[in-house]
Amino acid sequence: MNDLQFQLDMAQSVIQHLDSQEKMYQLVCSTSRNAFIYVDFIKKSLSVLGNWSSFFDFSLYNEGEFVKIIEKVEDCYKNDLQKLLFYEKTRKENYSLECKLDGQDRWFEFESTIIYQDGSPIEKVIRIRDISKLKRQNEELKYMAYYDTLTGLYNRNYFVRVLSEWIHSAESDNESIAVMCLDFDDFKKINDGLGLVAGDELAQLFGLFLKELLDDRMIASHVNDDTFYLAIKNPIGNHSVDYVFDKILNRLKMPFRLFGGHDIYITLCAGVAEYPETATNCLELINCAEVVMFRAKEMGTNQLKYFEAPIYKDFLDNVNLENRLKEAISMNRFVLYYQPQYDSKSGDLRGVEALIRWKDENGKLISPGCFIPLAEKSGLILPIGKWVLEEGIKKYAEWRKKFNCNMVLSLNISALQYKSANFVNDLFDLLEKYQVNPKDIELEITESVLIDDFAQVVEKLHVIKDYGIKISLDDFGTGFSSLSYLKGLPIDTLKIDKSFIDTVIDDESTRVITETIVSMVKKLGYETVAEGVETKEQYEYLKQIECDNIQGFLLGRPMPEEELVLLMEQKG
Ligand code: C2E
Ligand code: CA
Ligand code: CA
Repeated sequence: MNDLQFQLDMAQSVIQHLDSQEKMYQLVCSTSRNAFIYVDFIKKSLSVLGNWSSFFDFSLYNEGEFVKIIEKVEDCYKNDLQKLLFYEKTRKENYSLECKLDGQDRWFEFESTIIYQDGSPIEKVIRIRDISKLKRQNEELKYMAYYDTLTGLYNRNYFVRVLSEWIHSAESDNESIAVMCLDFDDFKKINDGLGLVAGDELAQLFGLFLKELLDDRMIASHVNDDTFYLAIKNPIGNHSVDYVFDKILNRLKMPFRLFGGHDIYITLCAGVAEYPETATNCLELINCAEVVMFRAKEMGTNQLKYFEAPIYKDFLDNVNLENRLKEAISMNRFVLYYQPQYDSKSGDLRGVEALIRWKDENGKLISPGCFIPLAEKSGLILPIGKWVLEEGIKKYAEWRKKFNCNMVLSLNISALQYKSANFVNDLFDLLEKYQVNPKDIELEITESVLIDDFAQVVEKLHVIKDYGIKISLDDFGTGFSSLSYLKGLPIDTLKIDKSFIDTVIDDESTRVITETIVSMVKKLGYETVAEGVETKEQYEYLKQIECDNIQGFLLGRPMPEEELVLLMEQKG
């Protein structure tokens, strides 16, 4: 009896346990967002569970009705779905498939799991999941990964990918491809003048225009701010580079209207590299197009230039030099030389001009003419110029203390430095730090500083001059050479370029010009310095026409600090 009672109790507790498990499964299924199809092969039964009604508006009673599901998906998925639903025959345990519903923006994922016993299927569960949201997110991610969101054109990475594929097939099909790099002229001016948003808008409008030009033989990419790539497959006929560039120039004859109502005209330059003539590698092609685009810019606005081999060699040399220059900056491999300037009448030392030298790994001195242009182009002039400023002012403070010398230190400042926001403050801070009187410092600027942004630079010059620092206009005679604009400039000194001095003795008209400059500059109240004076005759002549100061090999070459110190000791 006891035994029977025990067995009864056991059975009851098992039923209770099963009951609660069944409830739990039902709860899990009914609250799931997925739908399930359960097939019991032994009992030959089929049931649908879970959130079935949010997927399909019909029910299923046997496997024959799977066709109702298959009918719902797009044609291209029908075959695979058929296989999945009747999967047990292929004897794989797990199988999943993503299908798009026919005529709808809905995606379902089907996953089938089959339980086998002794090699035969006994049960099967098919889970159906709505993955539309996931798909959309993926699409967005893919879009962001492949496209430029501003213009809808390819981004650089995707452009490179597609271009690589083009090149790959061009190889076997014997086709040619042209890659163009387009870049607005003076984009900085637009950004500076109208703001970055306007710059973006302009790039967007131009990008949209480019997009309209595209067809199956052209792809385009917005690479950054104002730079675009265009690749043309088989660039002939109405797909030739010249034809496409003409189309672009035609559009540029009309302005782009910005959101705020501004009408903006732009010009641009393009560099072209061709497959297979220029390069057979995708990145090299792009590189070459970019390099030659910068060359086009040197020719003016709205210019198109095709790649030529020597340009690339030049570029590679430059890249190499740029890397070496970067290393020189980090290793502090620069020295300043100083060239004296003398008062033409008294012969007193008026001051020295600091001239940079790069001491290379072997201790060889490299002259600034070899690296300053590249430093200016690459922006490396900023760290270099900063170093020159501090080194010069620091050394000047030492000499002043030691020799109590009364002279001016002239420092060459490049246009980019003037434009950098911190330049003026950094300069004032240095004078403060080394306790140097501003009137002992002279900054040499060239006319190129004034070209880009006359008003803004002049304003900065006023601030500098008001602080007591002298300003000298360098290389006068090589730029605009216009005396009329000198009047409004806050300068103290004018340096007459060596090219005048070179011919002043032999050439009558140079003499007339030089005399006019000197007397005119005197009237304006500026000091004059003649540079590159190499002969006694030149010196005597300049003294006679009352040019105030003389600088040149005749009186002293640029010298290292130790030599200058000796010179000051002798004078002192
Ligand atoms: P610059 O400012 O016109 O400097 C005068 C150049 O003429 C110097 O060349 C000097 O050595 C040279 N020179 C002076 N007197 C004579 C002469 O009688 N005969 C001849 N044949 N040459 C003479 P350097 O030192 O090679 O400098 C070349 C240019 O590099 C400078 O021209 C200046 O534009 C630039 N530079 C030099 N140092 C700096 C610097 O620290 N910063 C910047 N931004 N540019 C610098
Ligand atoms: Ca100079
Ligand atoms: Ca000069």
